[in-house]
Amino acid sequence: MIKQRDNRPWIRPLPERLINKIAAGEVVERPASVVKELVENALDAGADRIEIIIEKSGTRLIKIVDNGWGIGEDQIEIAFSRHATSKISEFDDLDRIESYGFRGEALPSIASVSRMRMVSRPREADSGIEIVFEGGVLQSKKLIAAPPGTTVEVENLFFNTPARRKFLKAETTEARHITRVAMAMAMARYQVGFSYQMNDRQVFALPNGLGLGERVSGLLAPGKKFVAVSGEIGSVKVLGYVGLPELAQSNRNSQFIFINGRYIQSPTLSHALASGYGELLPRGNYPIGAVLLQVDPSELDVNVHPAKTEVRLSRERDVYDVVHRQVKEALHREGVIPTFQVPTKSSFSVSVPDSPSLPARQNVIPGVLSRSSFSTEQLGAIYRNAPAVPASREAQVVRVDTSTGEILDDTAPAATAGPSLRLIGRFDDLYLLFQCDADLLLIDQHTAHERVLYEETLARMEAQNGVGQNLLLPVNVELGAEQMALFAESRDILTQTGFAIEPFGGATVRIEAVPAILSKKSPEPSLRAILDDLASLRKSGCDLKKAVAQSVACRSAVMAGDKLTDREAIAVVERLLACDNRYSCPHGRPTFIKLSRRDLDKQFGRG
Ligand code: ADP
Ligand code: MG
Repeated sequence: MIKQRDNRPWIRPLPERLINKIAAGEVVERPASVVKELVENALDAGADRIEIIIEKSGTRLIKIVDNGWGIGEDQIEIAFSRHATSKISEFDDLDRIESYGFRGEALPSIASVSRMRMVSRPREADSGIEIVFEGGVLQSKKLIAAPPGTTVEVENLFFNTPARRKFLKAETTEARHITRVAMAMAMARYQVGFSYQMNDRQVFALPNGLGLGERVSGLLAPGKKFVAVSGEIGSVKVLGYVGLPELAQSNRNSQFIFINGRYIQSPTLSHALASGYGELLPRGNYPIGAVLLQVDPSELDVNVHPAKTEVRLSRERDVYDVVHRQVKEALHREGVIPTFQVPTKSSFSVSVPDSPSLPARQNVIPGVLSRSSFSTEQLGAIYRNAPAVPASREAQVVRVDTSTGEILDDTAPAATAGPSLRLIGRFDDLYLLFQCDADLLLIDQHTAHERVLYEETLARMEAQNGVGQNLLLPVNVELGAEQMALFAESRDILTQTGFAIEPFGGATVRIEAVPAILSKKSPEPSLRAILDDLASLRKSGCDLKKAVAQSVACRSAVMAGDKLTDREAIAVVERLLACDNRYSCPHGRPTFIKLSRRDLDKQFGRG
């Protein structure tokens, strides 16, 4: 600090090189940020082929080669001066940014903390130009033979900022960040050819001109099926490919969300994506896939942070809805949430409540797909994903009271239509073995029953016709403070399921009736268990009504170890196959595993 005579420090502008170094602290947080900035520059220059070459997690070398429009000899030095950009020129441009760059900070910042060499040649120029900087100081500039496009090499990153260098994480961590950037850019601009090499190893090489679907599956799960998501609502457009529920992971690492081509990390939109899967996802699992959103550039503020990884969206709620709805519809269309209808009422004596969330059900011809406009391809997908439910079935028919799940009589006439479901065994009083047409189904009796009761309970609540069973002797239960508060909050909803519970002074409540499906269980422990379930379901953000239905279903369902009669077992499975979401229980655990004859033949080497 240079002091004036009266001891006050001088105020002076900082030298440009120091300014750049300070800016580098924000723009160039780690090697991955350099990769991002340089690839963005290549994309902004219209490249359709980009090579990324990395050595020693970017601290030794980051090299980006593009075939974009290049920089002219007379411009190259200006590109390295601060706030020099070709991408915006006036204030209003900030409201309609369509390029990645606009701040004109990346090149001077990176150059100030590394040794940086750029070679560039516009297609129409006779030769290229090479420029070299070290720690922000121009070392040389000369004409050189070069192919059209631009090559940038960044060596010895952070050589002159020891603090930053020290803060870099382990090499593998930095490498992982770079890989994520490379993957994200390759998905955001899926039409562009990308190759990515790390320490002499080719990580991926993706040709240009293919679709997003190929790109996403190629990068996230080669050979696996992804479901296409596309649509628009108002001014928000979405295009994406998302993995089937079985590809879900316990972290969000394989989730990529973009707005106007920018990769963003948004817990809100990530939630929207997961919510599109609803109960198909086990709790704590995240879907994989890429979702590209397009909004009007004026609704997106990208100028929030120098690294531009944060954006502000003026209509986040709308965008949330679009993602949620389109993902849900896409999975639905693919039969992942099946629209296939098992014949009801007339043939089985099981009535399936109409779910208000599935308008497609109105046009249902028994035993046939709903009459919406499915393509043959989509029908194929539905049949592939749904267990086969052929038109004729064998004679084991039972009548079931859907409010209690009880078998009504065993003399029902043989039906003429329905699935050919044959109970062939049990394992450990938990798994039921069924032959369903040509498939072998292994069914978890608890989760299957839970799913059935859940959907039936929700439908009854919706229709306001919960069935309660009065207790001969009402039961008084003393509740703890938290349980009491939950009871007060959920009393009306509990009533919809068939409970009649009255406050009985102080911390005591009196159970006068329980839902019919719960009538076989003991009332007091059931109520306590349900209130405990509600406490934890509420904490995980579950809607109260669904939480109540889930808990009542779970506490009423048959347990592992319960011995079911043949008829009970068949009834559970028939009702399961009539569920909207037959594949998982409300907690997301699978209800059954299907083994086809072909799967088994493969296992036994029968070709
Ligand atoms: P910004 O991208 O914000 O404009 P940069 O410092 O990243 O700022 O780049 C400065 C300018 O250099 C850009 O506006 C662009 O005109 C030019 N430029 C940078 N990289 C390339 C490239 N690979 N091909 C063509 N032009 C480039
Ligand atoms: Mg840039």
